Amino acid sequence: MSVMTTTTDKPVLLVTGGSRGIGAAICVSAARQGWAVAVNYASNRAAAEAVVAAIEAEGGTAIAIEGDVGRQDGIDAIFAAVDETFGRLDGLVNNAGIVAPPQRVEEMTADRLDRLFRINVSGSILCASAAVRRMSIRRGGRGGAIVNLSSIAAVLGAAGQYVDYAATKGAIDTFTTGLSLEVVDDGIRVNAVRPGIIDTEIHASGGLPDRARALASTIPMKRPGTAQEVADAVLYLLSPSSSYVTGAILNVSGGR
Ligand code: NAP
Repeated sequence: MSVMTTTTDKPVLLVTGGSRGIGAAICVSAARQGWAVAVNYASNRAAAEAVVAAIEAEGGTAIAIEGDVGRQDGIDAIFAAVDETFGRLDGLVNNAGIVAPPQRVEEMTADRLDRLFRINVSGSILCASAAVRRMSIRRGGRGGAIVNLSSIAAVLGAAGQYVDYAATKGAIDTFTTGLSLEVVDDGIRVNAVRPGIIDTEIHASGGLPDRARALASTIPMKRPGTAQEVADAVLYLLSPSSSYVTGAILNVSGGR
């Protein structure tokens, strides 16, 4: 965790899992659009520091914050660091997420499901909870925007690969709908993006390093998406350009 104190007039964005893949693209794009960015990571400090360095090299403002969103003490540490460093919060991207190696449902263990649901679902809900407490205009905050990373797997089901992961993203869709309605009067917009197959390291982490290329022919646009293409959608949903958009779930999936 960085201990630097950086009070800022810029709006402050927290991106969970901002150190690699889609999260890293969101962080860099957000800094270019004037956000001060809190780049959260779980374990790969070097990757987070590289994102911070890239932002600072362009004149932007960012810090790296270690913290596991699958643990309450990790979430507490992340938000304490945001409070201490910036003293405000205007946006949250619930991006941190994991997959497990391909398995049929009949092979799945409680430990596997517990880890997936803790990080992908509970982590997103608890981070949103902490963000709403800070952003709500009913609580003296300035309002804000939350964007959740779902997946087109929530719609397709990921049969034979990871139905459990797809179910975590189905939960994210429902959570997006419910929270968006719950915090309308708090001045907070809540939306989600459903990426399709995006070329990041998540596939290797699930034991399928060639998944993006192997499935390219099954995608209507015949190619995987890029992290930047997802980041562009997330930045739209964070920005004033989407001021009348809440509860939306935007597919960024090449037609899949
Ligand atoms: P990725 O390349 O595997 O990067 C994952 C990021 O999340 C890393 O920064 C990682 O940090 C962080 N992270 C993992 N577990 C964490 C935890 N417990 N607490 C805090 N941070 C954690 O993933 P990605 O492909 O960019 O995916 C980002 C999001 O998009 C995920 O929610 C994913 O489900 C969703 N998505 C991805 C795809 C795709 O095809 N790539 C498709 C649909 C949806 P460390 O390096 O420190 O572990």
